[in-house]
Amino acid sequence: MDLSRFPRRRYTKDATPLEFLPHFTNALAASCPNGQGPNVWIKRDDMLGLTPGGNKTRKLEFLAADALTQGADTLITCGAPQSNHCRATLSASIKEGMKCRFVIEERVPDSYREDASGNNFLFRLMGVEAITVVPAGSNMMEAMQKVADDLAKQGRKGYIVPGGGSNAIGGLGYVACAQELQQQFFEQGVQIDKIVVGSGSSGTHGGLLAGFLGNRINIPIVGIGVSRDPVDQDPLVHKEAQAVSDLLGLSMTVPREAVVSFGDWWRPKYSVPNQAMVEAVQMLARTEAILLDPVYTGKIMAGLIGLARKGYFAKNENVLFIHTGGAPSLHAYEAEVLGLKDLPG
Ligand SMILES: *Cc1c(COP(=O)(O)O)cnc(C)c1O
Repeated sequence: MDLSRFPRRRYTKDATPLEFLPHFTNALAASCPNGQGPNVWIKRDDMLGLTPGGNKTRKLEFLAADALTQGADTLITCGAPQSNHCRATLSASIKEGMKCRFVIEERVPDSYREDASGNNFLFRLMGVEAITVVPAGSNMMEAMQKVADDLAKQGRKGYIVPGGGSNAIGGLGYVACAQELQQQFFEQGVQIDKIVVGSGSSGTHGGLLAGFLGNRINIPIVGIGVSRDPVDQDPLVHKEAQAVSDLLGLSMTVPREAVVSFGDWWRPKYSVPNQAMVEAVQMLARTEAILLDPVYTGKIMAGLIGLARKGYFAKNENVLFIHTGGAPSLHAYEAEVLGLKDLPG
């Protein structure tokens, strides 16, 4: 598939590593009922550029390029108080010599604290120009449009990056990832049987799916919901995959059954810690020295662990976990991830 006709900025020099996790694989097997689990591999998208990386970097390569093409001087985006996406968008704006403004949604009431650690600290350190805080359930697109209108009155030009960078253009970032993976599977002689990826605003899951279908890569993708059950999540992913496919001009109808997700690990609520997340974060840190995060990848890896213990993966299957980043928010949840607080299962 030819991505070269889409404007793109580069924020990562080379492919992110594709690695086997030997110690984690052993620890997981030992914790499975019959002592057998899958071989777990990892795609280190936590090592993408726009320090310290994460999946939003891939989407922003195409989104920031589009903003520059349109002559924008400011990126406007939205997210939760510990948003990795906001932090990555701010990084991209700095690299491109643009300003950046956020609309922050308090999805958990009163959760925004100006002096909070983690990503919020990085917003301030890197110099976000303005933050507007709105209550849960606000119309984020309207709120961002208002910021753009205010800028226009001053003769400036804002570019709205949708939540999570998940539209057709942002999804191209994970089509690029699909192509990178295809090359790595070939060069490293790796045969992956299933992919486990987080499913939130859906650009990652949907973009990867469009890229796999378009490149005829026949590896099932299993999404782990971080905020929704499959009944709500799957239609979003399907719509995103179709939009990406249409933008690529693939003349393809994305089969509905190609979208698979599980919703059993995000509760009690988006971004609110649970015990399974803590186990997953500690397990990967202590077996492989790789940092997951409390809001996304900890719960996503908890999904992989939980599915393995339920016997969802066949014996000796090679399962690839896409590490989508997020480590800065560990610092906003230190006591929780150290197991010092009572949390729901
Ligand atoms: C945003 C994010 C996700 C979810 O990706 P979507 O494309 O929004 O579905 C997963 N992991 C991390 C660390 C994220 O920041």
